[in-house]
Amino acid sequence: MSTEDRHARLAASLAEIRTRIAGACEAVGRSRQEVTLVAVTKTFPAVDVLALARLGVRDIGENRDQEAAAKAAAVAEKQVEVRWHFVGRLQTNKCKSVARYADVVHSVDRISLVEPLARAVAAHRDHPLHVFAQVSLDQDPSRGGAATSELERIATAITAHSELRLLGVMAVPPLDVDPDSAYRRLVEIASALREKFPEAAALSAGMSGDFESAIRHGATHLRIGSALLGGRPPLG
Ligand SMILES: *Cc1c(COP(=O)(O)O)cnc(C)c1O
Repeated sequence: MSTEDRHARLAASLAEIRTRIAGACEAVGRSRQEVTLVAVTKTFPAVDVLALARLGVRDIGENRDQEAAAKAAAVAEKQVEVRWHFVGRLQTNKCKSVARYADVVHSVDRISLVEPLARAVAAHRDHPLHVFAQVSLDQDPSRGGAATSELERIATAITAHSELRLLGVMAVPPLDVDPDSAYRRLVEIASALREKFPEAAALSAGMSGDFESAIRHGATHLRIGSALLGGRPPLG
């Protein structure tokens, strides 16, 4: 596909998604301003990030450190500024790298990540890193996320570090569950946490197949990949 064709295709799917986001917000009386579209560009090249940035998408999501770091460097080289959101499973030994380019980490799902992340922020950047605590809605470890009973301890650890700012709660809905019921559960969990951590007001929820449901349930950060960029090859 030529660069022009790719750009036109991204523009068309972006327009459609923006219309659907606006419609879902309007349907429940929410302001469109409350909702950030994070374009998840994993497996797609840096030129797609540049094209999206030209179309006004400034929040970019990635799930693997190596790929994200290379893409962030390629985009910075073109003097294009975007905010990088790390949404994937985070390994302790990647904290240092992620802290260099990420503006937001959506996937803090265990206490053992907090100290290494805070230390990496202190060493490698001059402003705090925004983080979501990721909760599991089905206790399936392969999808990431802390048990609900762990969430408060993770939030306590995060808020004890001035290098980190707790934004809220993130979840990936279980595959074979109705998204409305998954997100209802998520809202209960997030509301309970917010009673103790009022700053944790954001909700990272909603992917290509379910973002309208997520908006109905109060999502503030949609992580949308395939609906915007097209199908990805299956994970090897
Ligand atoms: C890939 C990914 C997404 C985007 O998924 P789509 O279904 O392609 O929209 C969202 N969140 C996380 C954590 C991901 O890894």
